[in-house]
Amino acid sequence: MIRGFVECESPSDDRTAVNRFVELVADTVSGYAKVKRTKGGRFGDLLQCEMALPGRRKSGQILALGHSDTVWPMGTLRSMPFRQEKGRLWGPGSLDMKAGIAFFLTAVEGLRELDVPVASKVLLQLNPDEEVGSEVSRGLTEKNAKVSKAVLVLEPGTGMTGKLKTARKGVGDFTVKVTGRASHAGVDFQAGASAVLELARQIDHVASFTRMDKGITVNPGVIRGGTRSNVVAAEAEAEFDIRVLKLRDAPALERRFRKLKPFDKRCAVEVTGGLNRPPMERSAGIVKLFRLAQGLAREIGVELEESLTGGGSDGNFTAALGIPTLDGLGAVGEGAHAVNESLLVNRMADRTALIGKLLAAI
Ligand SMILES: [Zn+2]
Repeated sequence: MIRGFVECESPSDDRTAVNRFVELVADTVSGYAKVKRTKGGRFGDLLQCEMALPGRRKSGQILALGHSDTVWPMGTLRSMPFRQEKGRLWGPGSLDMKAGIAFFLTAVEGLRELDVPVASKVLLQLNPDEEVGSEVSRGLTEKNAKVSKAVLVLEPGTGMTGKLKTARKGVGDFTVKVTGRASHAGVDFQAGASAVLELARQIDHVASFTRMDKGITVNPGVIRGGTRSNVVAAEAEAEFDIRVLKLRDAPALERRFRKLKPFDKRCAVEVTGGLNRPPMERSAGIVKLFRLAQGLAREIGVELEESLTGGGSDGNFTAALGIPTLDGLGAVGEGAHAVNESLLVNRMADRTALIGKLLAAI
Protein backbone atom coordinates (compact mmCIF):
# COMPACT_ATOMS: atom_id res chain seq x y z
CA MET A 1 0.00 0.00 0.00
CA ILE A 2 2.82 2.41 0.85
CA ARG A 3 4.54 1.71 -2.45
CA GLY A 4 1.32 2.43 -4.35
CA PHE A 5 0.82 5.66 -2.41
CA VAL A 6 4.41 6.91 -2.85
CA GLU A 7 4.47 6.07 -6.56
CA CYS A 8 1.35 8.20 -7.02
CA GLU A 9 3.11 11.59 -6.72
CA SER A 10 1.05 14.44 -5.28
CA PRO A 11 2.74 17.84 -4.95
CA SER A 12 0.55 20.50 -3.27
CA ASP A 13 0.57 22.76 -6.33
CA ASP A 14 -0.56 20.07 -8.79
CA ARG A 15 -4.29 19.63 -8.32
CA THR A 16 -4.61 16.88 -10.94
CA ALA A 17 -1.84 14.84 -9.35
CA VAL A 18 -3.24 15.25 -5.83
CA ASN A 19 -6.65 14.16 -7.11
CA ARG A 20 -5.12 11.01 -8.59
CA PHE A 21 -3.82 10.19 -5.11
CA VAL A 22 -7.16 11.07 -3.49
CA GLU A 23 -8.82 8.71 -6.00
CA LEU A 24 -6.36 5.97 -5.07
CA VAL A 25 -7.13 6.33 -1.34
CA ALA A 26 -10.88 6.47 -2.05
CA ASP A 27 -10.57 3.23 -4.06
CA THR A 28 -8.56 1.58 -1.29
CA VAL A 29 -11.27 2.28 1.33
CA SER A 30 -14.27 1.73 -0.94
CA GLY A 31 -15.12 -1.61 0.69
CA TYR A 32 -15.30 -0.24 4.22
CA ALA A 33 -15.85 3.51 4.23
CA LYS A 34 -18.36 6.11 3.19
CA VAL A 35 -16.36 8.54 1.08
CA LYS A 36 -17.00 12.22 0.54
CA ARG A 37 -14.91 14.47 -1.71
CA THR A 38 -15.09 18.25 -1.57
CA LYS A 39 -13.51 20.65 -4.08
CA GLY A 40 -10.38 22.35 -2.76
CA GLY A 41 -10.29 25.33 -5.13
CA ARG A 42 -6.81 25.69 -6.60
CA PHE A 43 -5.76 22.60 -4.61
CA GLY A 44 -6.88 18.99 -4.88
CA ASP A 45 -10.04 17.62 -3.31
CA LEU A 46 -10.52 17.30 0.44
CA LEU A 47 -11.28 13.69 1.32
CA GLN A 48 -13.47 12.49 4.20
CA CYS A 49 -13.89 8.77 4.86
CA GLU A 50 -16.28 7.54 7.52
CA MET A 51 -15.05 4.09 8.50
CA ALA A 52 -17.41 1.15 8.96
CA LEU A 53 -16.11 -0.53 12.10
CA PRO A 54 -17.36 -3.34 14.37
CA GLY A 55 -19.38 -2.45 17.47
CA ARG A 56 -23.00 -1.45 17.23
CA ARG A 57 -23.30 1.60 19.46
CA LYS A 58 -21.31 4.64 18.43
CA SER A 59 -20.94 7.58 20.75
CA GLY A 60 -18.80 10.54 19.82
CA GLN A 61 -16.27 10.83 17.02
CA ILE A 62 -12.55 10.32 16.57
CA LEU A 63 -11.02 12.42 13.82
CA ALA A 64 -7.96 10.96 12.11
CA LEU A 65 -6.11 13.70 10.28
CA GLY A 66 -3.66 13.48 7.41
CA HIS A 67 -2.66 15.20 4.19
CA SER A 68 -2.62 14.00 0.62
CA ASP A 69 -0.04 16.50 -0.62
CA THR A 70 3.75 16.31 -0.49
CA VAL A 71 6.53 18.88 -0.90
CA TRP A 72 8.05 16.98 -3.82
CA PRO A 73 7.57 18.19 -7.42
CA MET A 74 6.29 15.79 -10.11
CA GLY A 75 9.05 13.60 -11.48
CA THR A 76 11.00 13.36 -8.19
CA LEU A 77 10.50 9.58 -8.40
CA ARG A 78 13.03 9.48 -11.25
CA SER A 79 15.86 10.54 -8.96
CA MET A 80 14.35 9.25 -5.68
CA PRO A 81 12.49 6.07 -6.61
CA PHE A 82 10.47 4.11 -4.07
CA ARG A 83 12.71 1.35 -2.72
CA GLN A 84 13.21 -0.98 0.22
CA GLU A 85 16.81 -0.93 1.39
CA LYS A 86 18.75 -1.09 4.67
CA GLY A 87 15.65 -1.90 6.69
CA ARG A 88 13.81 1.15 5.40
CA LEU A 89 11.29 2.27 2.82
CA TRP A 90 12.51 5.26 0.83
CA GLY A 91 10.83 7.72 -1.50
CA PRO A 92 9.22 11.17 -1.80
CA GLY A 93 6.36 11.55 0.69
CA SER A 94 6.97 8.10 2.20
CA LEU A 95 7.54 9.33 5.77
CA ASP A 96 5.59 12.58 5.40
CA MET A 97 3.04 11.12 5.34
CA LYS A 98 1.83 8.43 3.03
CA ALA A 99 3.00 5.66 5.36
CA GLY A 100 0.90 7.18 8.16
CA ILE A 101 -2.20 6.99 5.96
CA ALA A 102 -1.38 3.36 5.08
CA PHE A 103 -0.90 2.50 8.78
CA PHE A 104 -4.28 3.99 9.62
CA LEU A 105 -6.08 2.12 6.83
CA THR A 106 -4.34 -1.13 7.76
CA ALA A 107 -5.37 -0.60 11.40
CA VAL A 108 -8.99 -0.16 10.30
CA GLU A 109 -8.78 -3.30 8.15
CA GLY A 110 -7.30 -5.17 11.14
CA LEU A 111 -10.07 -4.06 13.50
CA ARG A 112 -12.61 -5.27 10.97
CA GLU A 113 -10.92 -8.62 10.39
CA LEU A 114 -10.49 -9.27 14.13
CA ASP A 115 -13.97 -7.95 14.86
CA VAL A 116 -12.75 -5.58 17.57
CA PRO A 117 -15.59 -3.29 18.67
CA VAL A 118 -14.97 0.43 18.27
CA ALA A 119 -17.23 2.64 20.37
CA SER A 120 -16.73 5.85 18.40
CA LYS A 121 -17.50 7.00 14.92
CA VAL A 122 -14.15 7.21 13.08
CA LEU A 123 -13.62 9.83 10.39
CA LEU A 124 -10.46 10.13 8.31
CA GLN A 125 -9.84 13.55 6.76
CA LEU A 126 -7.07 14.09 4.20
CA ASN A 127 -6.16 17.67 3.31
CA PRO A 128 -4.64 18.64 -0.06
CA ASP A 129 -2.84 21.79 1.14
CA GLU A 130 -1.13 21.00 4.45
CA GLU A 131 2.37 21.53 3.14
CA VAL A 132 1.45 25.03 1.98
CA GLY A 133 -0.38 26.29 5.07
CA SER A 134 -3.84 24.58 4.96
CA GLU A 135 -5.59 27.76 3.94
CA VAL A 136 -8.39 25.95 2.11
CA SER A 137 -8.77 22.94 4.42
CA ARG A 138 -8.56 24.72 7.77
CA GLY A 139 -12.31 25.37 7.97
CA LEU A 140 -13.25 21.72 7.44
CA THR A 141 -10.56 20.53 9.87
CA GLU A 142 -11.96 22.81 12.56
CA LYS A 143 -15.55 21.88 11.79
CA ASN A 144 -14.83 18.16 12.12
CA ALA A 145 -12.62 18.65 15.18
CA LYS A 146 -15.32 20.59 17.04
CA VAL A 147 -17.62 17.54 17.00
CA SER A 148 -14.83 15.08 17.93
CA LYS A 149 -13.67 13.89 21.34
CA ALA A 150 -10.13 13.28 20.10
CA VAL A 151 -7.96 13.99 17.07
CA LEU A 152 -5.25 11.57 15.94
CA VAL A 153 -2.72 13.11 13.56
CA LEU A 154 -0.94 10.67 11.24
CA GLU A 155 2.18 12.80 10.77
CA PRO A 156 5.53 11.05 11.41
CA GLY A 157 6.85 10.77 14.96
CA THR A 158 9.84 12.73 16.23
CA GLY A 159 13.33 11.28 15.81
CA MET A 160 14.42 7.72 15.22
CA THR A 161 12.41 6.44 18.19
CA GLY A 162 9.16 7.97 16.93
CA LYS A 163 8.22 10.15 19.87
CA LEU A 164 4.65 11.37 19.80
CA LYS A 165 4.06 15.11 19.55
CA THR A 166 2.18 16.61 22.47
CA ALA A 167 3.15 20.21 21.73
CA ARG A 168 3.91 22.11 18.57
CA LYS A 169 4.97 25.69 18.15
CA GLY A 170 2.69 28.14 16.40
CA VAL A 171 3.91 29.30 12.99
CA GLY A 172 3.59 32.56 11.13
CA ASP A 173 5.30 34.65 8.53
CA PHE A 174 5.94 38.29 7.91
CA THR A 175 7.21 40.24 4.93
CA VAL A 176 8.97 43.53 5.56
CA LYS A 177 9.12 45.67 2.44
CA VAL A 178 11.28 48.76 2.29
CA THR A 179 10.91 51.51 -0.30
CA GLY A 180 13.82 53.91 -0.54
CA ARG A 181 14.98 56.35 -3.19
CA ALA A 182 17.12 55.30 -6.16
CA SER A 183 20.13 57.26 -7.31
CA HIS A 184 23.48 56.84 -9.10
CA ALA A 185 25.97 55.42 -6.61
CA GLY A 186 28.77 57.48 -8.15
CA VAL A 187 27.23 60.70 -9.46
CA ASP A 188 24.42 61.31 -7.01
CA PHE A 189 25.08 59.13 -3.97
CA GLN A 190 23.60 61.45 -1.34
CA ALA A 191 20.32 61.89 -3.22
CA GLY A 192 19.61 58.20 -2.71
CA ALA A 193 18.07 56.49 0.30
CA SER A 194 19.14 52.86 0.19
CA ALA A 195 16.37 50.36 0.72
CA VAL A 196 19.02 47.64 1.09
CA LEU A 197 20.79 49.46 3.92
CA GLU A 198 17.47 50.23 5.62
CA LEU A 199 16.40 46.59 5.31
CA ALA A 200 19.72 45.41 6.76
CA ARG A 201 19.05 47.55 9.84
CA GLN A 202 15.48 46.29 10.08
CA ILE A 203 16.63 42.67 9.88
CA ASP A 204 19.13 43.15 12.67
CA HIS A 205 16.43 44.81 14.78
CA VAL A 206 13.78 42.18 14.03
CA ALA A 207 16.18 39.31 14.72
CA SER A 208 16.40 40.62 18.30
CA PHE A 209 12.72 39.64 18.79
CA THR A 210 13.92 36.05 19.21
CA ARG A 211 13.59 34.87 22.81
CA MET A 212 14.96 31.35 23.15
CA ASP A 213 13.96 31.19 26.84
CA LYS A 214 10.30 31.69 25.84
CA GLY A 215 10.43 29.53 22.73
CA ILE A 216 10.00 32.51 20.42
CA THR A 217 12.07 32.51 17.23
CA VAL A 218 12.20 34.96 14.33
CA ASN A 219 14.10 33.81 11.25
CA PRO A 220 14.96 36.13 8.36
CA GLY A 221 14.83 33.37 5.78
CA VAL A 222 14.74 35.26 2.47
CA ILE A 223 16.00 38.68 1.36
CA ARG A 224 15.61 40.39 -1.98
CA GLY A 225 16.54 43.85 -3.08
CA GLY A 226 18.41 46.22 -5.31
CA THR A 227 19.10 46.03 -9.01
CA ARG A 228 22.82 46.70 -9.60
CA SER A 229 25.79 47.44 -7.37
CA ASN A 230 26.15 50.98 -8.81
CA VAL A 231 22.56 51.95 -8.04
CA VAL A 232 21.39 53.05 -4.58
CA ALA A 233 18.57 50.54 -4.12
CA ALA A 234 14.98 51.75 -4.27
CA GLU A 235 13.41 48.51 -3.07
CA ALA A 236 14.20 45.59 -0.79
CA GLU A 237 12.22 43.07 1.17
CA ALA A 238 12.71 40.24 3.62
CA GLU A 239 10.55 37.28 4.62
CA PHE A 240 10.54 36.13 8.21
CA ASP A 241 9.36 32.87 9.72
CA ILE A 242 8.11 33.21 13.29
CA ARG A 243 7.47 30.47 15.88
CA VAL A 244 5.82 30.79 19.28
CA LEU A 245 5.35 28.21 22.01
CA LYS A 246 2.46 29.99 23.74
CA LEU A 247 -0.47 31.63 22.01
CA ARG A 248 -0.36 34.45 24.56
CA ASP A 249 3.05 35.52 23.17
CA ALA A 250 1.76 35.98 19.61
CA PRO A 251 -0.10 39.32 19.86
CA ALA A 252 2.90 41.17 21.33
CA LEU A 253 5.21 39.75 18.66
CA GLU A 254 2.76 40.70 15.90
CA ARG A 255 2.51 44.21 17.33
CA ARG A 256 6.29 44.61 17.30
CA PHE A 257 6.32 43.79 13.59
CA ARG A 258 3.45 46.15 12.81
CA LYS A 259 5.16 48.99 14.71
CA LEU A 260 8.40 48.86 12.70
CA LYS A 261 9.51 52.37 11.75
CA PRO A 262 12.23 53.31 9.23
CA PHE A 263 15.65 54.19 10.66
CA ASP A 264 16.19 56.47 7.66
CA LYS A 265 13.13 58.76 7.51
CA ARG A 266 13.37 58.94 3.72
CA CYS A 267 12.52 55.24 3.51
CA ALA A 268 9.10 53.67 3.99
CA VAL A 269 8.55 50.32 5.70
CA GLU A 270 5.53 48.18 4.97
CA VAL A 271 4.74 45.05 7.00
CA THR A 272 2.37 42.23 6.03
CA GLY A 273 1.71 38.81 7.52
CA GLY A 274 0.86 37.26 10.85
CA LEU A 275 0.44 33.99 12.72
CA ASN A 276 -1.11 31.32 10.50
CA ARG A 277 -1.00 28.26 12.77
CA PRO A 278 -1.64 28.71 16.48
CA PRO A 279 0.61 26.68 18.81
CA MET A 280 -0.54 23.25 19.96
CA GLU A 281 -0.17 23.70 23.70
CA ARG A 282 0.26 20.65 25.93
CA SER A 283 -3.14 20.68 27.63
CA ALA A 284 -4.47 18.28 30.29
CA GLY A 285 -6.58 16.60 27.58
CA ILE A 286 -3.51 16.03 25.41
CA VAL A 287 -1.54 14.60 28.33
CA LYS A 288 -4.42 12.23 29.16
CA LEU A 289 -4.53 11.03 25.55
CA PHE A 290 -0.76 10.56 25.53
CA ARG A 291 -0.89 8.51 28.77
CA LEU A 292 -3.54 6.30 27.19
CA ALA A 293 -1.32 5.77 24.12
CA GLN A 294 1.67 5.07 26.35
CA GLY A 295 -0.23 2.35 28.22
CA LEU A 296 -1.46 0.77 24.99
CA ALA A 297 2.06 0.82 23.51
CA ARG A 298 3.44 -0.96 26.61
CA GLU A 299 1.04 -3.84 25.91
CA ILE A 300 2.96 -4.42 22.69
CA GLY A 301 6.37 -3.85 24.21
CA VAL A 302 7.00 -0.30 23.04
CA GLU A 303 8.00 2.52 25.38
CA LEU A 304 6.52 5.73 23.94
CA GLU A 305 7.97 9.13 24.62
CA GLU A 306 6.53 12.56 23.95
CA SER A 307 8.13 15.58 22.31
CA LEU A 308 7.77 19.26 21.56
CA THR A 309 8.43 20.28 17.98
CA GLY A 310 8.90 23.63 16.28
CA GLY A 311 7.16 22.33 13.16
CA GLY A 312 3.44 22.90 12.58
CA SER A 313 0.70 20.55 11.39
CA ASP A 314 -3.08 20.58 11.09
CA GLY A 315 -3.05 19.33 14.70
CA ASN A 316 -2.23 22.91 15.70
CA PHE A 317 -5.72 23.99 14.60
CA THR A 318 -7.57 21.20 16.41
CA ALA A 319 -5.58 21.55 19.64
CA ALA A 320 -6.16 25.31 19.64
CA LEU A 321 -9.91 24.56 19.77
CA GLY A 322 -9.33 22.62 22.98
CA ILE A 323 -9.84 19.20 21.38
CA PRO A 324 -7.38 16.61 22.77
CA THR A 325 -4.96 16.02 19.90
CA LEU A 326 -2.24 13.43 19.64
CA ASP A 327 0.22 14.02 16.83
CA GLY A 328 3.10 12.05 15.34
CA LEU A 329 1.28 8.71 15.24
CA GLY A 330 2.54 7.94 11.74
CA ALA A 331 5.82 6.45 10.61
CA VAL A 332 9.15 6.38 12.41
CA GLY A 333 12.07 7.57 10.33
CA GLU A 334 13.95 10.63 9.17
CA GLY A 335 14.42 13.04 6.31
CA ALA A 336 10.97 14.59 5.87
CA HIS A 337 11.28 17.19 3.05
CA ALA A 338 14.85 15.92 2.40
CA VAL A 339 16.48 13.49 -0.05
CA ASN A 340 17.01 10.89 2.68
CA GLU A 341 13.27 10.68 3.43
CA SER A 342 12.71 7.15 4.74
CA LEU A 343 10.92 5.12 7.39
CA LEU A 344 11.87 2.11 9.47
CA VAL A 345 10.28 -1.14 8.33
CA ASN A 346 10.59 -2.71 11.78
CA ARG A 347 8.42 0.03 13.32
CA MET A 348 5.55 -0.31 10.86
CA ALA A 349 3.70 -3.05 12.75
CA ASP A 350 3.74 -1.46 16.20
CA ARG A 351 2.66 1.95 14.85
CA THR A 352 -0.23 0.34 13.00
CA ALA A 353 -1.22 -1.66 16.10
CA LEU A 354 -1.08 1.46 18.27
CA ILE A 355 -3.46 3.33 15.96
CA GLY A 356 -5.86 0.37 16.03
CA LYS A 357 -5.69 0.10 19.81
CA LEU A 358 -6.32 3.84 20.19
CA LEU A 359 -9.40 3.68 17.94
CA ALA A 360 -10.79 0.85 20.09
CA ALA A 361 -9.85 2.45 23.43
CA ILE A 362 -10.93 6.08 23.06
ZN1 LIG B 1 3.26 16.19 6.97
